[in-house]
Amino acid sequence: MSLSKIFSESEKAQNEVSEIASGLVKLNSAHPDGKTVDCVEYIRKYFDEKGIEYYIHAKEDNKPNIVGVLKGQSKKKILWVGHLDVVPVGEIDTWTYHPFSGKIIDGKVWGRGSSDMKGSCAAAMVAARILSKQKSIPNTVEFWFTADEEIGGGAGARWLSETKKLNGDVCIIGDGNGGGYKNPSIDLGCKGGAGTKLIARGKTAHGSTPYLGDNAIMKLLKVIPYIYKIGDYKLKLPAELEKTFKVSTKFYMAEASTPLQKKAVKKLFFYPTVACNIINGGVKTNVVPDYAEADFDIRLSPGAKVSEVRAEIERLVKEAGIPGVEVDKTRIRTPTNSKMDSAGYYESPNSEFMEKLSLTIKKATKKKPKTKILTGGTDGVSTSKIAGIPSLGYGTSLTGKAHQPDEYITIENLVLGIKVYAGFPIIF
Ligand SMILES: [Zn+2]
Repeated sequence: MSLSKIFSESEKAQNEVSEIASGLVKLNSAHPDGKTVDCVEYIRKYFDEKGIEYYIHAKEDNKPNIVGVLKGQSKKKILWVGHLDVVPVGEIDTWTYHPFSGKIIDGKVWGRGSSDMKGSCAAAMVAARILSKQKSIPNTVEFWFTADEEIGGGAGARWLSETKKLNGDVCIIGDGNGGGYKNPSIDLGCKGGAGTKLIARGKTAHGSTPYLGDNAIMKLLKVIPYIYKIGDYKLKLPAELEKTFKVSTKFYMAEASTPLQKKAVKKLFFYPTVACNIINGGVKTNVVPDYAEADFDIRLSPGAKVSEVRAEIERLVKEAGIPGVEVDKTRIRTPTNSKMDSAGYYESPNSEFMEKLSLTIKKATKKKPKTKILTGGTDGVSTSKIAGIPSLGYGTSLTGKAHQPDEYITIENLVLGIKVYAGFPIIF
């Protein structure tokens, strides 16, 4: 089948892909439960109906993963990987339509996960259906739908990579923002984390005689600004990504409106980002707390050394000089090698994979895609670093929609997703 035939088949599937995206959104797979069992059943039925071979792999009963397999003529194997779990909905009052309504209105599919990333999953399902109708396809293609991406892939891509169920020559990560028709882009990789938990210990006392205690909350508050200083630590980064970091900065700058936001975006890829996102401490108004803790989301550009940043964080905590406050070491996984000590993951901008994916997107959008780095993490960390499969990201998500209330995806982007996901295996 020619690429133009694939593109016209994709256009014809506009209603089908919207209905599937909506159907997936309606099935609650939000964390903390992150149950993918209903979504997997939905996909299984679709594959059964369309005569597509599939397998289900589950580490946890409620969090299965499913793969649709299309056998090709050559020995090359292309993987497509996307996740079915979604982040919590947050305050329901902030949503115009119920987050699990999956409403299709104004050329958009609405609801939690539409953009991140049940929309891409729907596009991949239809791509599998279109490819399955071919008499023959050049390469074997596996479409993987995983669990647990939003919490590190423990029952999903990480486990599938560790157990070598995920294997192949190249992998397209369907997560992230591919820029639609207007501003097409390929993700060369994504940032990684150096998440840090700070623990403060003090001495309890009656709230009426606070001078007899040692308030853990107050101690914690004194050290938090020191953790924020890691945001001024200049990262040592791979030279081959220099241009990509510049393009990525431009990409994220488009979202920044205030001078403070613009200043932050200028640093976004060259320094760590820090966000203190959880604080816990205290039991009762009249009790001086002897324990408090703070959780920081700290993100580093790919290639930065995590151990180096951790050492600097330790130094900053020491510099604060507050006894009884320390970094929680129990949560830190010691990297087994230098590859695992490198934050996130990235691929070379010069590969045949890159060239062919770029060509597919160019044919579909009439524009040459740029390369960028995602600020959020994806399953690509597992497929690239653990399974060792070159992994490039191309998603249908929209800028600023993931993890937000009133999340939506445009039907236009869904159709573009089908074109790229079904077109690439023909070109590669
Ligand atoms: Zn995602």
